[in-house]
Amino acid sequence: MPESQARDDRAASGSLLDDLYREVILDHYRSPRNRGSLDAPTCSADGVNPLCGDQIHLDVALAGDAIEALRFSGQGCSISQASASMMTEQVTGLDRSAALAAVAAFQRLMLTGEPGDVGLGDAELLSGVAKFPARVKCASLAWKTLEQALGGVPSRAAVTTDERSSRDG
Ligand code: ZN
Repeated sequence: MPESQARDDRAASGSLLDDLYREVILDHYRSPRNRGSLDAPTCSADGVNPLCGDQIHLDVALAGDAIEALRFSGQGCSISQASASMMTEQVTGLDRSAALAAVAAFQRLMLTGEPGDVGLGDAELLSGVAKFPARVKCASLAWKTLEQALGGVPSRAAVTTDERSSRDG
C-alpha cells in the first residue's frame, strides 16, 4: 500500500486514527447492541439532550446487585446512539458499583480526553469527543441515564444534559 505525503500529513494530525475510530462508532450506530426494551425491567430511566434532540430510554434488569440485562431505545445523533450501544455492551454483567465506576470513568474521559484505570471498551474510542463540548453532552447522555436508572442520581425527573434547568431571560 503506497503512502502519499499528503496522507502522512493527515496521519500526523490524527485523522487516520480518527477514520478508524469513526468506523467503529458508525458500526455501533448502524448495528446497535442491546437495542430494544425489557418486559419486566428492575429499573428504568429516561434521558434527554435538548441541545441536540437526543433521547434515550433505558431498561435495566438486575439479578441481585448485578446488571443481568440492559436495553436502550431512543433517537438522536450518531454519537448519542453509538455511545448508548457501547455503554450497554460495557456494563452488562457488572455489579452496580462497578457500573457506576464506569460511568464516572466515562465522564472523566469526556473531561480530559484520556482513558483512566477503568477500561471502557469501545467507548474509549469516543475520547476525541472531549474536544467538542456540545458533543460531550451527546456522548454522555446514555451514561448519565444509566446512573439515574441505578439510583446514583437522587432525582425522579428525566435526566437532562442541560445543567441549567432554569431559563435565562
Ligand atoms: Zn447528539
